[in-house]
Amino acid sequence: MAGKIKAIRGMRDILPPETGRWQAVEKAAREAFALYGYKELRLPLLERTELFARAIGADTDIVGKEMYTFPDRHGDLLTLRPEATASVLRAVLENGLDQGAGVKKLYTLGPMFRYERPQKGRYRQFHQINCEALGSDAPELDAEVILLLMEILKKVQLGANRLLVNSLGCPECQAKFKAGLGLFLINKEGLCEDCQRRRTTNPLRVLDCKSAHCREILKDAPVLRDYLDPDCLAHFNRVLELLSRFGVTYEEAPRLVRGLDYYTRTAFEVVAVGLGAQDAVAGGGRYNGLAKELGGPDLPAIGFAIGEDRLMEVLPENLGQGDGKKVFLAALGPAALDLAFSLLQTLRQAGVAGEMDFGNRSLKAQMTLADRLGADYTVIIGDRELETGKATLRRMATGDQQEVALSLLPMVLAGL
Ligand code: ATP
Ligand code: MG
Repeated sequence: MAGKIKAIRGMRDILPPETGRWQAVEKAAREAFALYGYKELRLPLLERTELFARAIGADTDIVGKEMYTFPDRHGDLLTLRPEATASVLRAVLENGLDQGAGVKKLYTLGPMFRYERPQKGRYRQFHQINCEALGSDAPELDAEVILLLMEILKKVQLGANRLLVNSLGCPECQAKFKAGLGLFLINKEGLCEDCQRRRTTNPLRVLDCKSAHCREILKDAPVLRDYLDPDCLAHFNRVLELLSRFGVTYEEAPRLVRGLDYYTRTAFEVVAVGLGAQDAVAGGGRYNGLAKELGGPDLPAIGFAIGEDRLMEVLPENLGQGDGKKVFLAALGPAALDLAFSLLQTLRQAGVAGEMDFGNRSLKAQMTLADRLGADYTVIIGDRELETGKATLRRMATGDQQEVALSLLPMVLAGL
């Protein structure tokens, strides 16, 4: 016998009832996006490798070792997207979405691919909700984007969490900071192999290292805030002031950087309390220079990505459940089945979720099935009911039963 084929390591099936929770999160996000004026983009999962190499930066973990890259049959080098922002910008520039006045507000949902070591909260295919606002460098926009993120997280009942905020400054501030950090790191012993290289190639990346020893060394490292010029500092302070005004609790995280090279000024992350090592459920920031990097105009922008897989781990078990009732129709005998089927369609037309079993099973078997399907009510129709023109309506939670005229059933059920 042939062996069973299994899913690829780090890639998993998300099954019901779990998918119901995912739908609830995505619904809440879509509603919040609509309130804030965002429109959805649906983008390809495959892009030219060059897009990510240019956008994300050659010395990042993502480009260096995490991308799923392969030549297609024609020999073009393609990559399964490891993140969405580069693709969004590619699409914006290619389709001229940046034209015209005003901030362009876009969101997209879907899977991302990174060849990482699979573990709790870390998969090779994972899912993000991405928000991108393009065309303004105003600190109000930074604040608005963070407010939107926090609103989504609140809507899905995320419990204890911390919002960490930093400013990475403009490229000039960053260059000075990198020099200062490079100097600090130059004679530090015991940095991991990657960081020994990065301290000269891209010292900012060292701040993002997960190794415990590197983190220890970094405790005394210089902080970005001390390197911000007056404009960047004013921008940062205004963002913080606005967050305070709207009651958003934040912590300044002076060494927070993002895993991608393109961030400028505001950077932020939300960590969920109690998630363990992989505790960041969302991250984002400004990327003012990215459009130019991709051959486009000067297009200051800011965005965030929510990691749905990790978020699910900490959301309430029953999220999105219990809205809408469900009816099961138990039919006994062919005539009853025929009538129940018509009734079922009538119910569905009236917006009531209903199911039945076509297998001509015993009443007991059908009641078991109704329970398993989570029915709130069961309607029992047998020969006796057909004769009297009344069905038995049973409330599953209590076992209460009542007789209801068949002709009135749709109305009664719709009103329950
Ligand atoms: P980490 O530091 O945990 O590797 P990151 O900085 O690489 O995160 P981002 O690129 O900012 O992550 O992506 C935003 C969010 O996407 C993260 O906060 C996280 O919730 C989620 N995420 C990133 N990588 C993975 C993964 N491999 N599996 C599951 N979720 C992920
Ligand atoms: Mg990562």
